[in-house]
Amino acid sequence: MDTALTLAWVRAVATSMDQHADQLTQLDAAIGDADHGHNMRRGFGMVVPALAGHRCATVGEVLVKTGSTLITSMGGAAGPLYGSAFRAAGKKLNTPDATPEAFLMSWYAALTAIRQLGGASPGDKTMVDAFAAGVNAFEEATWRGADLAAAAAKAAAAANAGARSTIPLHARKGRASYLGARSVGHQDPGATSTALIFRALADVAA
Ligand code: ADP
Ligand code: MG
Ligand code: MG
Repeated sequence: MDTALTLAWVRAVATSMDQHADQLTQLDAAIGDADHGHNMRRGFGMVVPALAGHRCATVGEVLVKTGSTLITSMGGAAGPLYGSAFRAAGKKLNTPDATPEAFLMSWYAALTAIRQLGGASPGDKTMVDAFAAGVNAFEEATWRGADLAAAAAKAAAAANAGARSTIPLHARKGRASYLGARSVGHQDPGATSTALIFRALADVAA
């Protein structure tokens, strides 16, 4: 994973959030306050110009700048959660080209940041359900010797399955938890945007 590919990934996430904003907002309308697509589009929409005006020498600098921009410009629960995740990942990667093992460790750092800040565990019907599934699949593929493209493809499929797995769950964290049992039957918006972040990586790495 090198600096140029990391930039391409973050830009692909921004494009994907723009394309899926309505879908994410509809999911949030069912169990939240109908702003997740708007929040993600706005947050990553600020990241692209922030990166364009900033020379990044390492993979980590791209990710730290992404996270810092999300923290300062994106509202909602998801802004600080994704912002902290990208910052934590970036702090692990202070070279222009990250090995698969280093990149995997950065994914763990991101997941840990989300879990520490939000207090959610897998099964609570949040972005953690997709994030943990994606990171676990990335790890398994990496230890089997898969290259970045293959590991990212496995992770994207697993994160998507993780997002789908939130449908029958009863939300225990975030705004959807206020609905209690009425959250059952709806896919979590944050888990869905997490699956799109993994998908964007698979697409640029392919
Ligand atoms: P808000 O709920 O403040 O309007 P968003 O709509 O942008 O923020 O994001 C909602 C998403 O954030 C949820 O679908 C869920 O995946 C995620 N989320 C909310 N609270 C938590 C938490 N405590 N831990 C992990 N993820 C959370
Ligand atoms: Mg919302
Ligand atoms: Mg909101």
